[in-house]
Amino acid sequence: MIDMDGVLYRGERALPGLHEFLALARARPFVLLTNNSTVTAGDCVAKLRRMGAEVPEPAVLTVSDATARYLASARPTPRRAMVLGSPALRQAVAGAGIELVRAAADVVVVGLDTGFSYGALVEAVRSITAGAMFVATSLDAVLLTEEGIVPGAGAVVAAIGACVRAAPVCVGKPSAAMFEMAASALGLPPPETLMVGDNLESDIAGGAAVGARTALVLSGIAAGDARYAGYAGEHRPDLVFAGLPELTAFLAASWAATPA
Ligand SMILES: [Mg+2]
Repeated sequence: MIDMDGVLYRGERALPGLHEFLALARARPFVLLTNNSTVTAGDCVAKLRRMGAEVPEPAVLTVSDATARYLASARPTPRRAMVLGSPALRQAVAGAGIELVRAAADVVVVGLDTGFSYGALVEAVRSITAGAMFVATSLDAVLLTEEGIVPGAGAVVAAIGACVRAAPVCVGKPSAAMFEMAASALGLPPPETLMVGDNLESDIAGGAAVGARTALVLSGIAAGDARYAGYAGEHRPDLVFAGLPELTAFLAASWAATPA
């Protein structure tokens, strides 16, 4: 299970060793993950293709698709969703056969919503107060971008939560839901998987919580963060690598020793 942003690329830039890593990864089942609710699996495939890497679309699990699957399997299954989020998230929820509405919803789904408005907050609060499910793609209050820190899905979740005095169900990492869906796509129980990520809270703590082995790469959000310097702290990964070349060398050696 491989996180993408900060592991395979940063923004539009492929990280060193991407092609060698993906060539090796193909020897075992793998799934690529993202907590970014503004992209579709097709967007991720296209981005990797721009970097010269070919990955089949079913090998990508976005948090928007995971959220849609979560809603489709919820009982009772919601029928009217108010989505505060991107076109990708709206498309995923609609693709699960759930009607998109602007009010009187039976589920309020919150992702990164760059068009967030007071009017939407009013209707979200009304729906949840009337009994709608409250679901979030992630709880990250801020995102690190090339332009600095910007509010994330968690900022809108917090605005709604302050009004309804309730916390949402979170589908994205570090929630178990995302990892369990990823592992089930691989046909493996989580303890037989390795989670590779650059974020201690979402990738490493979340992966460890479902029993996966965890590998931290220091090429993404962890780069330059003092907390990661000694790899200490509450979310200790099983393995730590400077980047993809070191991870690739480790996997090549250990897979040679233990064939699939
Ligand atoms: Mg990442």
